[in-house]
Amino acid sequence: MSRVVMKFGGTSVADLDRIANAAKKVEQEVANGHEVVVIVSAMSGKTNELVGWVRETSDMHDRAEYDAIVSSGENITAGLLAQRLKEMGISARSWQGWQVPVQTTGAHEAARIEGIPSDNLDASFASGHKVAVVAGFQGIGPDGRITTLGRGGSDTTAVAFAAALDAVRCDIYTDVDGIYTTDPRIVSTARKIRKISYEEMLELASLGAKVLQTRSVELAMRYKVPLRVLSSFEDDISETAGTLVCDEEDTMESKVVHGIAYSKDEAKVTLVSVADRPGIAAAIFGPLADAGVNVDMIVQNISEDGRTDMTFSCPVDQVPHALKAMDEAKMDLNFEKIVTDTEVAKVSMVGVGMRSHAGVAAKMFKILANEGVNIQVITTSEIKVSVLVDRKYMELAVRALHDAFELETAA
Ligand code: ADP
Ligand code: ASP
Ligand code: MG
Repeated sequence: MSRVVMKFGGTSVADLDRIANAAKKVEQEVANGHEVVVIVSAMSGKTNELVGWVRETSDMHDRAEYDAIVSSGENITAGLLAQRLKEMGISARSWQGWQVPVQTTGAHEAARIEGIPSDNLDASFASGHKVAVVAGFQGIGPDGRITTLGRGGSDTTAVAFAAALDAVRCDIYTDVDGIYTTDPRIVSTARKIRKISYEEMLELASLGAKVLQTRSVELAMRYKVPLRVLSSFEDDISETAGTLVCDEEDTMESKVVHGIAYSKDEAKVTLVSVADRPGIAAAIFGPLADAGVNVDMIVQNISEDGRTDMTFSCPVDQVPHALKAMDEAKMDLNFEKIVTDTEVAKVSMVGVGMRSHAGVAAKMFKILANEGVNIQVITTSEIKVSVLVDRKYMELAVRALHDAFELETAA
């Protein structure tokens, strides 16, 4: 029997009515003759509330306890949806991550899925259950403790189940009806993309387009999972609904720039006047990596007097960890002071067409200059250009770029 994976995000299960709405969509797939694995997120706002409670208790909280607390939101939704399905006469049960088990690394708050043995779910389906409702975002580490997969991690749970159970499809139900050229909530002219390559989606996700968690796209690309994003509020769930993430050859877009992403929760940290000597970068970024800080952009200024400023960006909530790591390495690094700016944002443009077209970055810089937006840090790769700007100009920058690159019109 064929299997499908359906994932419902927070707004799609925000209250009992929406859970009932999700249950109807599950019912349709059961009626289509599938065994259904449903991955659920916590009800909208729940995870933020739980994270807030952890932060209130401590700036430098215990990461294993964070996971124990923050994973609980998904358990509630899984139970409620299974209960609702049973009320509708559909044979279903809820599963917490450890019961499956979803085996992960021990990296609390950002664990990676290492395996999902299918035996327990296979047995459940064989015994007559039609639906397995699984709490997303959570797993079990090597020491038997609960882990979580990073914010937005239920997307990754869904793709990992689709790969492990050889599902014919992985459908991500959310509050928008597909993937757009940029976040439709900040640019009203954003255009829905019918098909997008794994590679472009991977860049957009890693650069902040939170519609899919980065790791979920990585897994979909590796295991060739047909991944679809569609609305849980619309009736159409037929094959043409939503946006398909697929191989590059199967997409038709010919625009050089395909999408714009932004990430607001960035911070910029500068170590002022460090010795410009071989090994200095390793001496800075080694301890940051050990402290679990995800360093993104890096700039080292050229120095004349044997000293240099080193600037890096990282997620704003990791700043306390970064500062602590730098403070502990201060004797070795011998910097004058640290300057932190927690009011910055990153804006990025993505498109596979950039491989063969020069001038995208130059045009981007000119548009931002015309808007009076100062660029603080720049990074580029084969298919993307990113800039760090003052957070108050972020939306302006995204809109101006979307307009100037004419993303509202199809290729
Ligand atoms: P869920 O709770 O269903 O996981 P998320 O809030 O994580 O939903 O992701 C959906 C949101 O992603 C949308 O509401 C939208 O604001 C945002 N988003 C950002 N970039 C894009 C994009 N390029 N296309 C569609 N949605 C986007
Ligand atoms: N509930 C988690 C979060 O808000 C996981 C998810 O929704 O994907 O990040
Ligand atoms: Mg999400």
